[in-house]
Amino acid sequence: MIAKQKKEFEQERKLMVQEQLIPRGITDKRVLAAFMKVPRHKFVPVRYMEEAYGDYPVSIGEGQTISQPYMVALMTQCLELKENDKVLEIGTGSGYQAAILAELADKVYTTERISALSKNAQGVLQKLGYTNIKLKLGDGSLGWEEFTPYDGIIVTCAAPSAPEPLKKQLKENGRLVIPVGESFSQTLAVVKKRKGKFTEEDICGCVFVPLVGKYGWRRYA
Ligand code: SAM
Repeated sequence: MIAKQKKEFEQERKLMVQEQLIPRGITDKRVLAAFMKVPRHKFVPVRYMEEAYGDYPVSIGEGQTISQPYMVALMTQCLELKENDKVLEIGTGSGYQAAILAELADKVYTTERISALSKNAQGVLQKLGYTNIKLKLGDGSLGWEEFTPYDGIIVTCAAPSAPEPLKKQLKENGRLVIPVGESFSQTLAVVKKRKGKFTEEDICGCVFVPLVGKYGWRRYA
């Protein structure tokens, strides 16, 4: 029964990649391989397991969601990670995005402000055998100073603008991928650091839960 379920989920992952990611322009082979490998159904509450590979976000409790597979893939592709890179994620949530990053980079640092989510994600990631992910509880809008600078920073919640501490913690030639804009509708932006200066490129419209914190939306705190 369990072996059958595993095979079914593998098949659903394959369909997710073939029908949701490739036709929408996810072409990076390493990104696609990571999506084929990471068992997304293990990151959602048991009652939503059957929905894990759907083309939409899924509730993970505490009023938060695991983002739609395509959005996770697009943001990951925008980071252009290399094997030796060090990457910071703001908004651990279920831990799924962190697992995808761990397949593509050398070291992953991820922060979450809700204790129950961080603890749950840590358990799942440990069970799956990830050893290159460090988790921290706290306000990720401040970044994670201890391990700076980062080759890439990904923010999986929305901010009014790219937080200054995150821009500072980027390595030269690094990339910050972040939804920016109003609280209910944003633009996915890629901020690049070149010779100490920043450029911002808009990728597409998106809708994310708010980044709650000092350099995010204070009014939701
Ligand atoms: N990346 C997650 C995943 O793979 O499941 C999905 C993240 S969910 C869309 C956004 C997360 O950002 C929520 O878990 C929320 O609690 C978290 N968040 C919001 N503000 C934060 C902050 N200042 N620092 C850290 N995490 C924050």
